[in-house]
Amino acid sequence: MTDLQFDRSFEVTPGTAVQVSPLVRRVLVNNPSPYTFKGTSTFIVGSGQVAVIDPGPDDAVHLAALLDAVRGETVTHILVTHSHADHSPLARRLKAVTGAKTLAYGTVEAPSSSGLRLDASIDHDFAPDMTLAEGDVVNGPSWTLEALFTPGHMSNHMCFALQEEQALFAGDHVMAWATSVIAPPDGDMGQYFASLRKLLERDDHVYHPGHGPSKRDPLPLVRSYLAHRRMREEAIRARVAQGARSVGEIVASVYADVDPKLHAAAALSTTAHLDHLVAQGKLRKVDGIYEAT
Ligand SMILES: [Zn+2]
Repeated sequence: MTDLQFDRSFEVTPGTAVQVSPLVRRVLVNNPSPYTFKGTSTFIVGSGQVAVIDPGPDDAVHLAALLDAVRGETVTHILVTHSHADHSPLARRLKAVTGAKTLAYGTVEAPSSSGLRLDASIDHDFAPDMTLAEGDVVNGPSWTLEALFTPGHMSNHMCFALQEEQALFAGDHVMAWATSVIAPPDGDMGQYFASLRKLLERDDHVYHPGHGPSKRDPLPLVRSYLAHRRMREEAIRARVAQGARSVGEIVASVYADVDPKLHAAAALSTTAHLDHLVAQGKLRKVDGIYEAT
């Protein structure tokens, strides 16, 4: 199952602001891992009066790098795509230093019951000053950001469209370097499919994801992710129909092409697919065991 073409060309020095387009700068956090790739990307939008998107983990070195990058400028808004621990925690300290308001969809209700600690675990303390809804617009003198609600990777995930550049800050919804981890109970595969389809109705020219390189002409990638997820889901349904009962058994065969280091994440995505199959009536769950219908 090697139908996807990932782009892992991303040689970026952490802590140094890089201009990625006329209105956008990126500052990479020094938090590389199998789940964050080279690290989390923080974006600075505009100049003079700027918005910061995804401040990153609570990291004093990254805070200093961000403040250095915006020296002489005013941070007016801090936007957060979702409250995973590698995206939102530094919002508190950045807000304390700059006085900017934090904006995001909102907090999450679901407990993280999986017991698995991924780098992308939930920042339960995150609570934005202002909640954003689908279509809400945040302005600066030279930029306009529109909120797009894209749950799936996380229940409070938003992308932000920069209207002046037909660019989309895609968070962890769509990334060019790898597929997104969908970790139940907060991650939801049905929502994820719907949020991918939502992007197909748009005309964004470039995505700036939360990890890895930007992606120009992104819609073929979105289509390939949808096709890839459908294929995985069908393979998982078929394994259950053939008698596989445990998630581990399914992962070993369906994700044989994936680095074993990522099998914990694959197990979470498999559970998300199994729940989605049950929701569609393609499997049933009896006493915690998935069965063919
Ligand atoms: Zn995430």
